[in-house]
Amino acid sequence: MPQVFIDNRWQPCASGESLPMIDPSDGLEFARIARGTNEDVDRAIVAARRAYEGAWGRLAPVERGRILMQVERLILDHAEELTQIEARDCGKPIKQARNDVVACARYFEFYAGAVDKVGGQTIPYQPGFTALALREPHGVTGHIIPWNYPLQVFGRSVGGALAAGNACVMKPAEDACLSLLKLAELMAEAGLLPGALNIVPGLGGEAGAALAGHAGVDHISFTGSPETGTRVAQAAAVHHHPVTMELGGKSPQLVFADADLDAAVPAIVNAVIQNAGQTCSAGSRLLVERAIYEQLLETLGRAFARLRVGPSPADLDCGPLIRAGQLARVRGFLAEAERDALPRVAQGEIVADAPKGGYYQKPTLLRDVPVGHHLAQEEVFGPVLAAMPFDDETHALRLANATRFGLVAGVWTRDGSRALRIARSLDSGQVFINNYGAGGGVELPFGGVKASGYGREKGIEGLLSFTRLKTITIKHG
Ligand code: ADP
Repeated sequence: MPQVFIDNRWQPCASGESLPMIDPSDGLEFARIARGTNEDVDRAIVAARRAYEGAWGRLAPVERGRILMQVERLILDHAEELTQIEARDCGKPIKQARNDVVACARYFEFYAGAVDKVGGQTIPYQPGFTALALREPHGVTGHIIPWNYPLQVFGRSVGGALAAGNACVMKPAEDACLSLLKLAELMAEAGLLPGALNIVPGLGGEAGAALAGHAGVDHISFTGSPETGTRVAQAAAVHHHPVTMELGGKSPQLVFADADLDAAVPAIVNAVIQNAGQTCSAGSRLLVERAIYEQLLETLGRAFARLRVGPSPADLDCGPLIRAGQLARVRGFLAEAERDALPRVAQGEIVADAPKGGYYQKPTLLRDVPVGHHLAQEEVFGPVLAAMPFDDETHALRLANATRFGLVAGVWTRDGSRALRIARSLDSGQVFINNYGAGGGVELPFGGVKASGYGREKGIEGLLSFTRLKTITIKHG
């Protein structure tokens, strides 16, 4: 019987229907999840409201923190099981899935510790008055989670919201969500009170749309594609509900001639092949100072040619893409590159024994990609790196800022002043100097500008995003 998780219990979903879960490594169904609908979302929101107005909402912050600390402990105790689930469901190489489990636990550790340390302000106002700006939870928060990093996005989003005192309703992605269904049970075991976390699996256009447009939810946190983000923001706007939007990216790495290339090369490769390129903060554009363009492409070409792609358990550099449609999309971009004669520097290999039905794509390095080309403008969401040369700092910045996105950027140079000058001028929510941390850094506020979205998750800023400010002015004479 397909089930949703409400009030710490598995309950039958209203439709009685289920959806197949496909293993991206072989294209075969290996599990089923509930096809949750608006009726389940209604019930989940009622449960969350009850928790928020009841026992969960009345807990002292320190008690909430202790429960979240226990969640961290149980995630680590079950790390191997969660790793195996996440790896199979998403098609991730095992070591990448293991990193995600550890990062998820770390979010709970971080937010558990922050619960009783982050407060509001007193405001210097007029004589005879005391003015306060209080931080309060939104109430019931909705979380729409993508398939590329279920555990990590859950940790930063739901972890922050629970820490701030909200009760949550979460709609995981239909393509990958099994780790989160397991985690729900662990969280109940950790002592999370009934109704504080409710999960309605299902389709985006059904359960997701019902949550985004629900009158009874007070805030929506969305991570996913810009197109779906627009739909979610429009649905929430009907009720004037605030949203946090973490959307796509076309993040540039700027490499100057004085850079430490030994450090830059592995980071550049990793930034675009991590999770087979299905990372919103993937470093998918490479901007190189002309003096070292040929040299760097040659080194990178050798590194790309060594990359191996195969099924999740083989634990290679890249696993498969998430689904057939995603593979077709990435191939469409590469067909376009071929049609327009964009030079291909190198490609990795798909191992010979990779199951035939899996969604495998060779990592690909393209060069001389014109700034206006689709490959330099649009998010491929696959292991494809588009390189182009620049002449000087001004040119580099112009190229870097010439997309509709602005999520993350990397700058590689030994000139500290230049690094800071560039970092200050980039249209980007995060800038890494002489390192690149796609997805990394629980402590680091994360989010975009322009079409990459708005609002911040991660870090203390992420905790504050799950609060609203109330100003109280007291006249006492
Ligand atoms: P992709 O296109 O790669 O599947 P999406 O951005 O569409 O990525 O999906 C991210 C999350 O948004 C998933 O949980 C998905 O189910 C959900 N989603 C998709 N469409 C909608 C929608 N119309 N309203 C709310 N959520 C949606």
